[in-house]
Amino acid sequence: MHSSKKTEIVIVGSGFSGLGAAIELKKIGIDDFIILEKADDLGGTWRDNTYPGLTVDVASTSYSYGFAPKSNWSRLYAPGSEVKEYADECAEKFKIRDHIEFSKSVESSSYDEEDNLWVTKVSSGETYTSRYLVSATGLFGPPKLPNIDGIETFSGRIMHTGAWDHEYDFSGKRVGIIGTGATAIQVIPEIVPIVEHLSVFQRTPIWLLPKPDIIFSERIKKLFRVLPFTQKLLRLVTHFLNEILFGIGFSHNRQFPWLFRWLQKLGISHIRKQVKDPTTQEKLTPQYDFFCKRPSFSNVYFPVFNEPNVSLVTDPISHIEGNNIQTGDGHTITLDALICATGFSVFDENIVPSFKTFGLKGTELGSYWINNRFTSFQGISVPNFPNYFMIFGPYSAASASWFGMIDTQVRHLSRCLRAAKKRNANYIEVTQKSLETDFNKILKRRRNQLVFHGDCSRSNSYYFDKNGDVPLIRPATQVGMWLRSHLVSMKNYNIMAK
Ligand code: NAP
Repeated sequence: MHSSKKTEIVIVGSGFSGLGAAIELKKIGIDDFIILEKADDLGGTWRDNTYPGLTVDVASTSYSYGFAPKSNWSRLYAPGSEVKEYADECAEKFKIRDHIEFSKSVESSSYDEEDNLWVTKVSSGETYTSRYLVSATGLFGPPKLPNIDGIETFSGRIMHTGAWDHEYDFSGKRVGIIGTGATAIQVIPEIVPIVEHLSVFQRTPIWLLPKPDIIFSERIKKLFRVLPFTQKLLRLVTHFLNEILFGIGFSHNRQFPWLFRWLQKLGISHIRKQVKDPTTQEKLTPQYDFFCKRPSFSNVYFPVFNEPNVSLVTDPISHIEGNNIQTGDGHTITLDALICATGFSVFDENIVPSFKTFGLKGTELGSYWINNRFTSFQGISVPNFPNYFMIFGPYSAASASWFGMIDTQVRHLSRCLRAAKKRNANYIEVTQKSLETDFNKILKRRRNQLVFHGDCSRSNSYYFDKNGDVPLIRPATQVGMWLRSHLVSMKNYNIMAK
């Protein structure tokens, strides 16, 4: 007989967005909540990704909750292990760990109209009944393997960067890596010194800028510890730079074309300074506008292409047979190991949302989105799904400060919960009209401001969905999002007692 538990709020996921939502609930005096986590540890992407070379590619001073600065980051772009440590520290500090139930993989959640409750089922058979449901399963879905003919026949060792095999010894091996995104550029420089040969299979080059990294000396760490406002000051600076680069770069590039041209120039000169061979320089130069897809930072990626044991393969892979990779131009590359740095499913029909969610009249959220378009009100709520909130729903991400985005999303959530409480209500549902107004604004802003109306045709960007929409990104700055989360009117919601 499987058990059934009752709680006021179920949060799904214990990555930084789930932890952020939980901390916010505690702040507003709600302690009756359960976090369901499918794995046996917390930390989301920072628990799962452990590949060599993993660091944040957004300054650590911004990659932390504003209310919980970490004074002992080892450097401005901290390694992944420190970010995971930070997640653990926050769970302890804000007493969240006791709320987490591990190894509870949510299969489905359904809104029970009669009792005005969400009923959430996990794969081990238990049921959780709650008034509110918060989905915090992250922006990125499961690791995506490349759809290459015969990949399942590869007879060497194959692994995705999102599930790194630390037992495998790469030394002296012939290795291939598919992908040249933000992950690959971190892994490649780490393995080049140990492998016999590395073939880098590039389909689309990435825009890369020099990484302004700094090691934080013991003195600086002490300064951050003793005078915390100094770190807050640096946070303001890194936020500001993020906002200029990503907030304005993504959303206002038409108004600031010089910024755009300057970044492209910087990216090209970075390649030319670091790569000796002009043909390789050419192959590494993107043929699409900056910001059509996620740019990154590195000082150590381009120089690997000067090494004698590295080849850049730009002919597409036609198929894989045994441990041979066949390219379109008829070459065969024999490998001992193949690394897939091929990213994650994002707003993709197989994974949205990551568990079946049934709202009013049995409407299923994933099918609703796939049959219509990805929409949400401010990235957080959807009509027909009362008492349901997402952290990072469609059109929630703006700029690059992840924690800034979490902050705006959880503030919106807590304003909704407080509004319901103030009115002695237990039912809150965003109106269809509010969703449509919000979506129309997005479309209008996108037409007027957004890079995605520039030359993105050769970018192969995962930002675009099958309708040509960009549900990942809200054409807004983080400052705009922050203001909206404070000012959003509760008139956008039907709030009542049931
Ligand atoms: P990604 O940006 O989606 O890159 C995947 C790479 O694999 C691309 O180069 C893609 O080529 C290539 N690829 C996919 N399928 C292929 C196929 N069938 N044949 C050949 N190439 C194929 O994934 P990612 O690098 O893992 O990064 C995902 C996101 O994670 C980033 O956008 C970033 O937001 C985040 N990230 C953050 C950090 C950090 O802060 N530490 C680090 C890494 C990543 P195409 O471009 O041609 O599709």
